[in-house]
Amino acid sequence: MATRIYILRFPKETSSEPMIYQLVKQYDVEFNILKADILPQREGVMILELKGTKDRVKEGLGYLKSFGVKAERMAAAINRDDEKCFQCGACTGICPVGALYIKRPSMEVIFDPDKCTGCSLCVPICPVRAMEVSPIVEAFTEEEEKIVT
Ligand code: SF4
Ligand code: SF4
Repeated sequence: MATRIYILRFPKETSSEPMIYQLVKQYDVEFNILKADILPQREGVMILELKGTKDRVKEGLGYLKSFGVKAERMAAAINRDDEKCFQCGACTGICPVGALYIKRPSMEVIFDPDKCTGCSLCVPICPVRAMEVSPIVEAFTEEEEKIVT
C-alpha cells in the first residue's frame, strides 16, 4: 500500500461524473480530498491523497484519464522549524500516519519526515506555524506517464 498526493484537473464536461467514487468501488483505492475547486460546467481542480496498491492506483488514474482528467503527482516537502515548535503536541492528534507523535516517557513531540505523506493537515493546526510546507510537482516515471498523462 502506498499513499501519494495527486493534483487532478477535470475538464468541464466531467464535473458531474462520479469518478472519484468509482476509484473506491472499481479500483479499491481510498481517497482523502485535501482541496477541491469543482463547479458545474467549469474546469475543476482537486488535490487528492490516494491510498492503494501501486498497480490499482495506476489503473484508477488510467480510468480518470479516459475522461480527459489530467493527473500530476505532488510531493510536499514538510519541515518543522524546531526553533518555533514549543512542543505543545496539538499536531500529533491530526497526523493520519503517525509522523508526528509524542515520545514517552520524555513527552517530546517527534516529527518523522520518512513517514510524512505531505498531506499538510498539521500546518494550520500549529499555533506558531512551525510546520512548513513547500509543494513540489513530482515527475511520473516513464511507465506511469504512459498510463496517466
Ligand atoms: S503533513 Fe503533517 S499531518 Fe500530514 S503526514 Fe506529514 S506530518 Fe502528518
Ligand atoms: S502544533 Fe506546532 S508547536 Fe505544537 S508540537 Fe506541533 S509543531 Fe510543535
